[in-house]
Amino acid sequence: LVPRMREFGETIFAEMSALATATGSINLGQGFPDEDGPKAMLDVAVEAIRSGGNQYPPGPGVPELREAVAEQRLERYGLSYDPMTEVYATVGATEGIAASVLALTGPGDEVIVFEPYYDSYAAVIALAGAVRKPVTLRPVEGRFTFDPDELRAAVGPRTKAILVNSPHNPAGTVFTRGELEAVAAVCRDRDLVAITDEVYEYLTFDGTEHIPLATLDGMRERTVSVSSAGKTFSATGWKTGWITAPARYVRAVQTVKQFLTYAVSAPYQRAAAYALANETAWVAELRASLQAKRDRLVAGLEAAGFTAYRPQGTYFVQADIRPLGFSDGLELARALPAKAGVVAIPTQVFYDHAEAGAHFVRFAFCKKDEVIDEAVERLRRLA
Ligand code: PMP
Ligand code: GLN
Repeated sequence: LVPRMREFGETIFAEMSALATATGSINLGQGFPDEDGPKAMLDVAVEAIRSGGNQYPPGPGVPELREAVAEQRLERYGLSYDPMTEVYATVGATEGIAASVLALTGPGDEVIVFEPYYDSYAAVIALAGAVRKPVTLRPVEGRFTFDPDELRAAVGPRTKAILVNSPHNPAGTVFTRGELEAVAAVCRDRDLVAITDEVYEYLTFDGTEHIPLATLDGMRERTVSVSSAGKTFSATGWKTGWITAPARYVRAVQTVKQFLTYAVSAPYQRAAAYALANETAWVAELRASLQAKRDRLVAGLEAAGFTAYRPQGTYFVQADIRPLGFSDGLELARALPAKAGVVAIPTQVFYDHAEAGAHFVRFAFCKKDEVIDEAVERLRRLA
């Protein structure tokens, strides 16, 4: 293995899901729903396969997906993108982020990330030969946020880009306009490219609204926005995503992406296009159902003795393990299957400053109510 990848072993999601399978534990670790997306969307995928749509689609994506994404950005956020030159399909958001980082940053460049960060960010920054500069999210009155001075201080002469994930996995924060304005100000003042990870754009609660960074003053021209169908339509295994960005960035990302995977699975693109255009009512129901599940899990975790952070978005809860007498989340996550028959994700693996997250574990609530209830019942044994 090349030196720049040596700090990356197996992903925590693979490790913890394998542990769940091996021990027969309830898996509240890796975030994937246990119910399928809208039936009509599944039918479109099946029909696309049956009707012969099984050969290479165009590299940039099938036209109906690019048009549906452009329409969605316009209708939902007032952002206008040309479907042919400013929208590009990717193998999930993961490839969209990877191709963007590889296309826009290189050896010696620095990339700002908010920690805890989604694990693929660190690995693709390393693949690019760039250096990550973490800005820590800390709980303030029950919500994870950053200090704008720390953000400004993290930017130096070599800073090239900033990766912004909102709604944020694993912290559950949906950045406010004020927080995004602080990010935008840094981008404008220091001429940074922003790469946004918006995969949870629809999964927000209590009326909280997702605001794309590209909608802020001067940001559309310097932002690559990334999203995917996985979370919105409960199809995480489809790995169908997209970027929207000014044409010059799309061309740069295309140059990389075409040699990573060339194209994206054709039947799923057609189904995702259908869902974006036709299934917003289904998504609204998903959001309402997830909000109730969030409250169910938060209440259960509190009853089990954790301090739980009620997220504004995503399907994850951060739980502080110290009230139960534990201090190391990685140790606890590895012991939890034996102790309680439940799997969680140790949040500290998403930090450079591991001590800032050592006492958090992340639980997913995109699960049937009875699964959440059973997990909570088991976790009560910890006290
Ligand atoms: N970003 C974040 C923050 C995520 O939680 C996930 C979850 N899978 C992804 C990206 C990856 O999305 P996809 O499956 O579309 O590649
Ligand atoms: N995004 C999912 C999570 O955070 C899992 C993604 C993965 O397995 N790589 O749990």
